Amino acid sequence: MITELQKNFYRITSRMPYRLRHVHAYLLAQDKNLALFDTGLNTDSALAALESDLQSVGLDIQNIRQIYLTHVHTDHCSMAGLLQKMTGAKVFLSAPAFDEYQHYRKSDEAVAQARNFYASHGMTPAEIDAIIDEFEDIRAIITEFGADDILKDKQVCKFGSTQFQVISTPGHANGHICFFFPEEKFLLAGDHILPYIAPSLTPNIFDDNYQPLKTYLESLGKIENLGCAEIHPGHGNSLSSVDERIAEIRAHHEQRKNYFYGFLNSAPKTARDVAQEIFGEDLPDFEKFLALNETFVYLQELKAEGRISEEMENNVFVYTAF
Ligand SMILES: [Zn+2]
Repeated sequence: MITELQKNFYRITSRMPYRLRHVHAYLLAQDKNLALFDTGLNTDSALAALESDLQSVGLDIQNIRQIYLTHVHTDHCSMAGLLQKMTGAKVFLSAPAFDEYQHYRKSDEAVAQARNFYASHGMTPAEIDAIIDEFEDIRAIITEFGADDILKDKQVCKFGSTQFQVISTPGHANGHICFFFPEEKFLLAGDHILPYIAPSLTPNIFDDNYQPLKTYLESLGKIENLGCAEIHPGHGNSLSSVDERIAEIRAHHEQRKNYFYGFLNSAPKTARDVAQEIFGEDLPDFEKFLALNETFVYLQELKAEGRISEEMENNVFVYTAF
């Protein structure tokens, strides 16, 4: 489905078979030339749907010249390679996003690292195998693309007569970026700010000291200072109460962090122990993985705040409250 949000600027919504049910890509048209922001999920029917969406508003898929990616989650980037091959479009993304994409492709290193990381937080070999399978599925969905340029924080890009700025917003994904259009005062937010859920945060399995929540909240602060009148997110309706939504997300994390803290005491617990207490044992594998990630994010933050301690016991990290 394609919606003209304002002259020459479109939202393209595609269905997803899982979780959030739909995802938005955005499109800027300058004369006949097109710049796509995110691509939607690579499903059997996705390419044909995009082609007919564009046709319905008099645009031609072959005229996609540039593709900008907010991050490399499948629902945002997985058609980039397909479209690049078909149209010769240039693909742009941040350096850490391109690293993450390459980890998906050279999976051996990432798989070994994921095994270490999740084992060190108490997951069982069977649970880790299930996560690795999920990653393999993800790898299969993302079509192979080359990066034509690496986008840097605050970089100003130009497409036709339209200018927009790259805002580096790590947190939801390590290499996440948003695109701010100063003239129009709107932000293409990817999954940095969503209207109805707080975006999930991801540990960096390659960096033990990375604090996802602190990093994310700093990235939220960058949006507060932009003078942004409207946010066009990767999922859900556009929103204009930007500061209000940011305050809600901040409050959510503060409340959630304290909730997790309530499960810690003087008995040493692994991240998996805490996740299991909070979320229960009967979760599908992928949900278990998300539960562990969320738990890790708050434990990491509580540790940095000096409210809990982390020790290594038999190759597994355990946490206790002071
Ligand atoms: Zn995402």
